Parts: sequence; structure tokens; C-alpha cells
Amino acid sequence: MKVNGYEIVLTADRTLFSDYGGGIFLGFVSCFPKSLIPEWIFFNVFCPSTKVAADGSPLSAPLGLRVIESLLLNSGFKREQVAVVHPDHIDKALGPNTKIFGLHEMDPLGIGPATSTFTQIFKGQAYMPIKLNALLDNPLVKLYKPKVILGGSGAWQLENKKEKDRLDIDCVVVGEGESVVPDLFLNILKGEEAPQFVYGKPVDTAMIPNILAPSMNGLVEISRGCGRGCFHCSLASSKKRDIPLDHILKDVLTTLRYGRSAPILHAEDVLLYGSNGLNVNKKSVMNLFKEVKKLQEVKFIDISHLSISSVLQAPDLIGELSQLLQLGEEQKFLGAQVGVETGSQRLIKKCMHSKPDFEKSGGWSGDVVDAFEILMRNNWVPAATLLIGLPDENDRDIEETIELVEDLKTFKSLLVPLFFVSHSKEDSFNIENLNDLHRELITKSWEHNFRWMPLLYKEYSSMYIHRGRLAIYLLLTLSAKYMKRRLKRLLNP
Ligand code: SF4
Repeated sequence: MKVNGYEIVLTADRTLFSDYGGGIFLGFVSCFPKSLIPEWIFFNVFCPSTKVAADGSPLSAPLGLRVIESLLLNSGFKREQVAVVHPDHIDKALGPNTKIFGLHEMDPLGIGPATSTFTQIFKGQAYMPIKLNALLDNPLVKLYKPKVILGGSGAWQLENKKEKDRLDIDCVVVGEGESVVPDLFLNILKGEEAPQFVYGKPVDTAMIPNILAPSMNGLVEISRGCGRGCFHCSLASSKKRDIPLDHILKDVLTTLRYGRSAPILHAEDVLLYGSNGLNVNKKSVMNLFKEVKKLQEVKFIDISHLSISSVLQAPDLIGELSQLLQLGEEQKFLGAQVGVETGSQRLIKKCMHSKPDFEKSGGWSGDVVDAFEILMRNNWVPAATLLIGLPDENDRDIEETIELVEDLKTFKSLLVPLFFVSHSKEDSFNIENLNDLHRELITKSWEHNFRWMPLLYKEYSSMYIHRGRLAIYLLLTLSAKYMKRRLKRLLNP
């Protein structure tokens, strides 16, 4: 331990310090309640920790934390002032000198769409809030009373002052940290009172620093923001900004230092890299993948998200990328999260009007099926979210989503029905409002998943899971059986 601790200690809850075996699909289990997977199994099998050095510093850390670390060091803070520390080793960094305890969180209250769906269905609390509470209750935090600052994509949940105060958090940073965090931290070190809430505006990409140490899962940001304008999303009006290629390559090289050979390119729609608005720029995307692939240690390239309309705009690009990555061979497939959300033309028009390209679209459901066909033909696997309880949803909307799920039966994919979550609790969907059509939608979606899971796991584990493959398979099979039983009980009351 550094004598008397670092002035600034940065960390996150324990669920964010695992790469979940290597890919990102298994990360979904962090949204399951404790009642579904006992703690020992969860943290040893599904969510094993990243390696930790003797001084408590993790070999890799959540991307958002790495960005803040780098931002502070670039802004004049000294290395000996700032420590990124693993949550199980806080004692090696936090001491009487610590003035700021900075936390990065994705779902601090466990009310994000996936977590609130699984915890309402299966009952109980998820590990994210459980482990955040454990961090906040750490005896050293209580003893030395540093200012607790929380940021990250889940910070919006603590705009609720009652919850923020209940957790004893001094300041919540909502939005992008680059323009606000250095001054905020400097002022606190000078002894000024921390404001309760700080709002960071979208910044120019020149202000986004390169990370200095590996991010978890080899996540590398290629664009920030979205701007498609979906009514429920905090990124709706945050214009997409592309990060320059040389910056991306530098970050990929940093993640490779961890020995990770499969960087995950992260954007709300990776296929829009270099685009002007919503028009895919094939040359730019192809060039990005080619340049990343050229880096010697890169074995696979993964991506975080894509959109249906970008796939439809550029099926040839999907094919060319598949050839470049030789998908279907050692890299069996390329997985990506896709926001399908509904099968209802009325709701997509009303709530997410920029998702389809209405000039060319023959209907949203048809678009989704066509895009899934293109993806499957090229060994891409979408994990699609579907939203239950969008405002003004009626029975016909749900029926159309059920029909879409049936139409997607033959496509290798995952379909994840989630309860709609709004920043205001009253507008969020609650399990008490579940009707028979919702139940049918959930049942059909999970039947689809259970059908595809064995093959997906076989392929996924051959790429990413190098130890304990059989044990994880058996545990997943058991969990799946248990889920099926619980779902059946819930869905047939
Ligand atoms: S497409 Fe996704 S990220 Fe973009 S505004 Fe809509 S919900 Fe948000």
C-alpha cells in the first residue's frame, strides 16, 4: 500500500472487473438476480476477476474508468495522486490521504432494462447493486470519508436525490466526463464543497484521451453518441462523433498489451463509423476493420452494436467484412447487440422514428427479417432487444412483435424481451402490468433462445472460453432448466 493512500482512488463494483470469459454475450448474466446464480458460482465461473497486481491495480479495468484515469493524468494530476484499484483491494490504495473515491457504474440501482426485467421475473437483487453497496460500506470509506463521486452510463439512476443520499454519494456526474471531471476533482482537492450533480456535455473527439492501460474485454470506443432520436434514450440528441483512426489503433494496441487478441469495437452503430448522418460509409468502415486486423496480435475483431437499417443499406459490406475476418472459421461468428425493440410499425414510427429508413422500408418487421437473413448468411449473430410496455402500447402492437419473433425462428440469434424503463419510475413497465400477450411474447422469445443456445455456446466457447468450458456449459444448462421452470410458472399463473 502507498503510505497513507492515494488522493484519488478510482474503482467500480466487482461485476465490472471481469471479461466474462472473453466475449460479451456472457456479460448478460450480470443482470440476473442473486437468487438465480449463487455468489460462489457467479464470481468463480461466470464472472472471474481480471488479474490483479500486488499493489491492487487491475490488469484491465472498465473502459469508462480508464478514460477518467487518462483524462486526469493528461490534465496535470500526478501518477502518485491517482490509483485505479480492484474493488477487492481497496485497502491497498485508500487511506487517510484519500480525498476522492471515484466510482464508475453502469447500473447502480439495478433498474436498467435487463436487470429490472430479470430481477422482477426471478425475484431478488442483482449483483451490481449488491457489490456497489459493499464498496460504499467498506470500513475504510467510512473511516476516512473521502468524497464519493459516481459517474458512468448508469449515473442517471442517481439523479434521484433520495437514492443518491441513501447511498451516501456526494456527487453524481451525468453525461460525458471530459469537460467537467478535471475541474471537479481539482476543486475538491482544494477543499471546495462537491456539487451534488454535475452535467457533462458531449465533447469534441479531440478531448477524448487515449487510454493508458487495457480496458475490460478489450473494449475500444470508435464513435460516441448516436442522435437517432429515440424518445426514451439519453443518447437521442447526442450527435454521433467518430474517433480518428490513429486514436483507435493506439487504444487497440493498449488493450493488446493485456494479451487480449480480440478487441471489441464499440459504438452505438459500428457500421456508421465515418458516416455522414445515417448513411453508411462503406470505405471508412472497411478501412477501420482492415487497419485493426493488420495489427499483428489481433486474432478476432468483435463489435458491440449495429442497426438494422445499416445492415440493409450495406449487405455487400457485411459480406466483405466477413471475408476479411474469415468468419465461420476460427472466429465462428461475429456477435452484436441490435435494438429491434418492437414488431409494430405504429410504435416504431411513434417512438423510434429514425430506426427504419422510411423511404426505402417496406415495413419494420420485414426490414428486421431481411437484415437477420443478411447477417446469418454472413455468420453474424444479432442479440436483439425487444421492449415490453412502450408507452401507448396496445394489444395489436404486442401481437405484431410476437409475429416477428415467429418470423425470426430460423435465424441464429438471441431475442431478449426487456421491460421498458424510463428515467421516471411511473412510466417504466412493471411486472404487475404483464398481460397474456406479454407472457406469450416472453415465452416465444425464450423458446427461441433455448433452441439456439447450445449451438451458440459451442461456437462461442471454442472462441473465447479456454478454461472450464464443460463446467460452464453444465452450469448454463442447469441455469437454463431452472429459468425455463421459473418462466413457465410465471407465465402460466
Ligand atoms: S438507436 Fe439506440 S442509442 Fe440511438 S437513440 Fe435510439 S435507443 Fe438510443
